[in-house]
Amino acid sequence: MKNIETIAIRTQTERSSSNEHSAPIYLTSSYVFEDAEDMRSQFAEEKEGHIYSRYANPNVDEFIQKLTLMEGAESGWATSTGMAAVFSCFAGLLKCGDHIVSSRSVFGSTHKLFTEVFPKWGIETTYVDSDDLTGFENAIRPETKILYIETPSNPALDILDLEAIGTICKKHSILFAVDNCFATPVLQRPIEFGADIVIHSATKYIDGQGRTMGGAILSSSKVIEQIKAFARHSGPALSPFNAWVLSKSIETLPLRIERHSENALKIAERLEKHPSIKSVRYPFLTSHPNYELAKKQMSLGGGIVSFEIKGGIEAGKQFLDGLKMFSLTANLGDTRSIATHPASTTHSKLSPEERGEVGITDGLVRLSIGLENCEDIWQDLEDSLTFLNVK
Ligand SMILES: *Cc1c(COP(=O)(O)O)cnc(C)c1O
Repeated sequence: MKNIETIAIRTQTERSSSNEHSAPIYLTSSYVFEDAEDMRSQFAEEKEGHIYSRYANPNVDEFIQKLTLMEGAESGWATSTGMAAVFSCFAGLLKCGDHIVSSRSVFGSTHKLFTEVFPKWGIETTYVDSDDLTGFENAIRPETKILYIETPSNPALDILDLEAIGTICKKHSILFAVDNCFATPVLQRPIEFGADIVIHSATKYIDGQGRTMGGAILSSSKVIEQIKAFARHSGPALSPFNAWVLSKSIETLPLRIERHSENALKIAERLEKHPSIKSVRYPFLTSHPNYELAKKQMSLGGGIVSFEIKGGIEAGKQFLDGLKMFSLTANLGDTRSIATHPASTTHSKLSPEERGEVGITDGLVRLSIGLENCEDIWQDLEDSLTFLNVK
């Protein structure tokens, strides 16, 4: 088995007759067959081939093959967005009457699927607090098919015990799905700890440059076949152009993630000492309640730092307004440092009580630490905090 940096760079599935070094973009909606028999056998799935770009495309194949190998999975399926991956996973595997157990702290749109979309089709979800291992086990019913978590979670940065939850899922013969968006396979490979399914929003670190959207599901061939059967006919396909961009992006993912993590740790340590800051959350800070667990299952802490500013909601907003270099934007995992205020943006659709339950206070600020020079990143944060002068 090659190492992850080599897989990221050297996995190339197609080369045309021009023998190009870098993969070309296959902008085509369909593919021609050699004759009627070739056409028949491909439609019958007796013979491998590209039929139509809603089903398969060489650029999409290359992208998903890289992620499959990097996550240590058997197979994978690429989607147009991260949410299309989350949705296709459940829609492909579940039916009316099935039940999901999920950690409470999940991405805002995933929460909407669980609470508003899936109940329309008779699929219920039970939430459990991140640290409550007994709660996870107790929430499992005979109808439970999937246990779903995010670790580190967005934006509270909870760290959940992959190995312990994996053991519970095995015991009850249910599928264990992990949204690995924040860590990427560079820092954490959930399958090694017992996960059955890994989900990605490729929009974040995998692209890493704020250009395209994309998603992926990695799992066993058996699970992917089921998801494929749904996705081929419902159409959440990744575009060839975006797949090409994402596959190129993956070549530098290991390098980028290392620097994101290095910068983020430095910033987290400095923020923790600042008099205007109430508390800082970062997986690799010794003050993180699950620091030991983070060290066990992640190789570095990742690029996201969240903190609670003294002075609540007003101070939080003024702090964002005082930043000169940081971008105020909804994305994360970009080369450019980004600051957001989850209570008024990504999680604004949740009620204040629901936000409280997932650890999102009014003064919580989420930073996605970019790849600018770390001293310049710190200067921007420090200037805004000094100007604010809350103690
Ligand atoms: C952004 C995000 C998603 C959704 O991905 P999109 O590409 O925006 O659809 C899912 N999970 C997590 C943890 C995310 O941060």
